[in-house]
Amino acid sequence: MMGRYGLALDFGGTKLSAGVVDVATAVWQAGTPVWQAKGRVYSPPGADFHSDLAAMVKLGHELLGGERPLAVGVSFGGPVDYRTGVVRLSHHVPGWENAPLQAQLEAAFHAPVRVDNDANVAALGEYRFGTGQGSESLLYVTVSTGVGGGWVLNGRPWRGHEGLAGEIGHTVVDPAGPECLCGKRGCVERLASGPYMAADLAARLGSAESFTGQRVAELAAQGQPDAQAILQRGGWALGVGLGNAANLLNPERFILGGGVTKSGDLWWTAVRQAAQATALPQIHSDIRPAALADDAPLWGAIALLELAGLV
Ligand SMILES: [Zn+2]
Repeated sequence: MMGRYGLALDFGGTKLSAGVVDVATAVWQAGTPVWQAKGRVYSPPGADFHSDLAAMVKLGHELLGGERPLAVGVSFGGPVDYRTGVVRLSHHVPGWENAPLQAQLEAAFHAPVRVDNDANVAALGEYRFGTGQGSESLLYVTVSTGVGGGWVLNGRPWRGHEGLAGEIGHTVVDPAGPECLCGKRGCVERLASGPYMAADLAARLGSAESFTGQRVAELAAQGQPDAQAILQRGGWALGVGLGNAANLLNPERFILGGGVTKSGDLWWTAVRQAAQATALPQIHSDIRPAALADDAPLWGAIALLELAGLV
């Protein structure tokens, strides 16, 4: 039997996740789908394109239990050419440059495949199944080890001319600020991402201890003034980025996901205040937490198939 199952794959750097949805069920039709099966494996150290692809194909076949999927939607943690399904590069795992991911998965699963980058796919997931439901336009932003974003405009992903739209992490909010890994100064990511906030706290305290973004939030919650200042500066930087984005495209909603968004009221207040102060007074930025957590890319992969008319 075929024609019931949509397979979602998420190549998340060190994590390879997959889920199967029964697209024929009433649950799906009502807009609150559930996974028929879901699984995750970890990409081992020394992994490359071939070993990751083989591990993901094995996981997908296991979850499908011998069924052939109707179609396969894919979230990839790096730049992808959506039209051809070819990976441009991976920031995490070597050997992915110019990998024909779509063609290889089509051969492995005997089904049509669509591939897009993780931020675009997660944006679509939140739009269709999460906090974005009922809105026409949104910017989804993930704030964790990096800061990435994806647009949905008029119900469709907006990928941009080269597929690089939504890079709010490398919009500049402080041209005289510290240098970012991209070579520019004062990017949102340089100020707001977990690892950079952690490094800034360690530097400020002259500490040999290596902090994490989560630890910065914990110390801030305990009242440690340096941690509070760095966390608030991160929230401010993101908020300025959102306010600028609001002035440019005036989306209905901003949806924030990723580990740093668990940093508490101090952070959320800083984000909202800076966004409101940056946007024109007539522009209202509705900034909300994401609903789907780590599952956003998997749900987005299913939504990608739905938009393409494949499930
Ligand atoms: Zn940058």
